[in-house]
Amino acid sequence: MRALIAGNWKMHGLAASASEIATLAAKMKDAAPTDADVLICPPATRVAAFTAKFSGSAIQFGGQDCHADPSGAHTGDISAEMFADAGAAFVIVGHSERRANFGEGGHNEGDADVRRKAEAVLRAGLTPIICVGESEAQRKAGAALEVVGAQLAGSLPETSDDFVIAYEPVWAIGTGLTPTLADIAEMHAFIRSKTRIDVRILYGGSVKPGNAQEILAIDDVNGALVGGASLKADDFYQIVMAGGGKQ
Ligand code: PEP
Repeated sequence: MRALIAGNWKMHGLAASASEIATLAAKMKDAAPTDADVLICPPATRVAAFTAKFSGSAIQFGGQDCHADPSGAHTGDISAEMFADAGAAFVIVGHSERRANFGEGGHNEGDADVRRKAEAVLRAGLTPIICVGESEAQRKAGAALEVVGAQLAGSLPETSDDFVIAYEPVWAIGTGLTPTLADIAEMHAFIRSKTRIDVRILYGGSVKPGNAQEILAIDDVNGALVGGASLKADDFYQIVMAGGGKQ
């Protein structure tokens, strides 16, 4: 199975950020062909422009979140159909930063919302990357498998198996902390037991050039969802190359 190395740029990225992607594309062209699929999910404002600018490269682009409806009176929201129209190939749904409570007046997403969004992405002809993961307290309480099992049961689409799952322990995102390799292996084997054999299961949470190789070597780790380290072409390229040897 081809690895998928996906960058989640979060709320980072302007028109000028195209230079990082150009550097990455040039490095990928100069290197031996990688057998990893490469995806960048920039802010929604850049998806159409980057897709057009890098149409001849091996880099695909995606959204970071979408509304479940195709259109409607939802000020500020973006539908999966709009991402398809912009040239996206994937949309991330259920990231922990969206499942988290945004504070007074904000929305936090539950499993049912995530499932609706994932089904919307499929409806639009794109592939959802569905994020799951436990909090630090849940892991310390020995409940990580149970929590992720419940998220999978509630969030995975009922209409199709054509999705990607990203296991992202919430406490590992942006912190520099990672689970042990044994803990990652245990969780990925558990997720695999709940899914088809050809569903890609990504690991996300402080993946960097220094740890990508050992994480991507784990059975049932079929790629990575990368936040901070995807913003710099040199770092992301090294992670892409680490995924390139993965079958
Ligand atoms: C993420 O935001 O999905 C993520 C994994 O971030 P980081 O790599 O910075 O921990």
